[in-house]
Amino acid sequence: MESQMMDFPLTLSHLFDRAGRYFAKTELVSRRPDKSIHRTTWGDFHVRAQKLANALQRLGVKRGDRVATLGWNHSRHLETYFGIPLMGGVLHTLNPRLSGQDLAYIMNHAEDAVLLVDDVLLPVWERFKHEVHPKHVVVWSNGAAVPAGMLDYEQLIEGELGSFTPVTLDEKEPAGICYTSGTTGRPKGVVYSHRSMVLHAMSAALPDSLGLSQTSVVLPVVPMFHVNAWGLPFTCAMVGAKVVFPGPHLDALSVLQLMEEEKVTCAAGVPTVWIAILDALDKEPKRWNVSSVKQMVVGGSAAPQAMIEGFQKRHGLAVLHAWGMTEMSPIGTVSRLKAGMQGLPDSEQFRRRAMQGVAVPLVEVRAVSEAGEVPWDGKSMGELHVRGPFIAKSYFGNAAEADKFTMDGWFRTGDVVTIDSEGFVRITDRSKDLIKSGGEWISSVDLENALMGHPAVKEAAVVAVAHPKWDERPVACVVLRDGAKATDEELREYLSPLFAKFQMPDAFVFMQTIPRTAAGKFLKTALREQLKDFKLQT
Ligand code: AMP
Repeated sequence: MESQMMDFPLTLSHLFDRAGRYFAKTELVSRRPDKSIHRTTWGDFHVRAQKLANALQRLGVKRGDRVATLGWNHSRHLETYFGIPLMGGVLHTLNPRLSGQDLAYIMNHAEDAVLLVDDVLLPVWERFKHEVHPKHVVVWSNGAAVPAGMLDYEQLIEGELGSFTPVTLDEKEPAGICYTSGTTGRPKGVVYSHRSMVLHAMSAALPDSLGLSQTSVVLPVVPMFHVNAWGLPFTCAMVGAKVVFPGPHLDALSVLQLMEEEKVTCAAGVPTVWIAILDALDKEPKRWNVSSVKQMVVGGSAAPQAMIEGFQKRHGLAVLHAWGMTEMSPIGTVSRLKAGMQGLPDSEQFRRRAMQGVAVPLVEVRAVSEAGEVPWDGKSMGELHVRGPFIAKSYFGNAAEADKFTMDGWFRTGDVVTIDSEGFVRITDRSKDLIKSGGEWISSVDLENALMGHPAVKEAAVVAVAHPKWDERPVACVVLRDGAKATDEELREYLSPLFAKFQMPDAFVFMQTIPRTAAGKFLKTALREQLKDFKLQT
């Protein structure tokens, strides 16, 4: 017997047409670099993205060619998210926070044929333009004349037809490529297909995942150059949500203002953004009315429990903790309390919400130690392996990393986790960040989480420092809140009921800031380098 269902390809064109047809009046709001607000709609967007597809064809972009973007979050950037894949091109978002050297490497590795760039990011382009060779550079101008030799985006699409003759796309064709901003080694390319992006959007939108719908107003604080803003543009097009783009203004005050003025229901970003927002709300709790906000999605690195509690208890705001990776499109797990868990004591509810959570539909997880798969008992640690239809099976043009993919079809995440009987994943560390002291493992994440619960501590990152007797010992790097004071002894006393003696940091180093990666995560390699000659007491 054969199934009687159509062979209907899962392509982004379907999401695109849905947004244009059913949600034409729904707004797309962008904050420009000068802070003024630009408004358009999914209807207008639908026409402009097709003009872009036509223009790219005219420029000679062929099926499978990579088209790069170097831009902040705005609706013209969104046009490339659909205009490029629609004509068979591959969207390649570049992270302007990377070094010129990395950007040149990535553009050359991907062989980008065209680059679209924000006028305000032209200084970044200047840093590496001599090392790369796209055929065309197109500028998203905010009013100023475009430099000689480059094309103006508006002029490029102006004369084009607002309808694009559809290309028959196979769902397995590439639609996008992102490079992981790893802290070691060269960036690695992950190539997404139309199918993987559609399935990711479906899975991400579900009520127990991000819970998005046409009534949502979504503010992606997460940049469009971080794993396609966690796929939110695709998910929002599919469900027809209003989208609010913050442009280059990602500081707490600007984000809070947008949340209030645009009546945002769901905002998403990395913990460092939310730590700053919590700080601002704590200082001026009455300044903003953010009662429209139903959830703030936090991912990219661990959301400290104290932050989740602070938002909920002091401001009535719900944090939704999610975990993912570039290799996973990126959403892997989401931490929502299951039915029945609402009755648990407050402290237990927050403990669970600070975990990475349960795998979203279509993602499967297992934890593996040297002895094999570990039981789901909430205690046994192993490396997290994942598989599913929106998870990479290899890196683009990079055979050196083939060992990340197991023979039996799983991707090795490099995150060390426990999984409990309810299926809640808890990350104890990146495997390279775990601290091994006297043969025992110490979780830097647990120490950081606890330290960030101290009222004087704004940020904390714990790293291993070499020790002659114990091999490695934890050292805590701490940034205090403005005007707050705390001594080593106070912090030690605060931690001591929570940790075994061997797990306690040997030293506390007070800093003004903690160095960050281009994705806003704590850059532990830099901290380890900074502390490599640090003398610990023996
Ligand atoms: P990237 O591919 O740059 O997004 O980095 C993925 C890595 O970020 C994961 O393997 C984790 O180590 C870390 N990460 C992402 N989300 C979380 C989270 N919610 N909690 C802890 N670590 C996270």
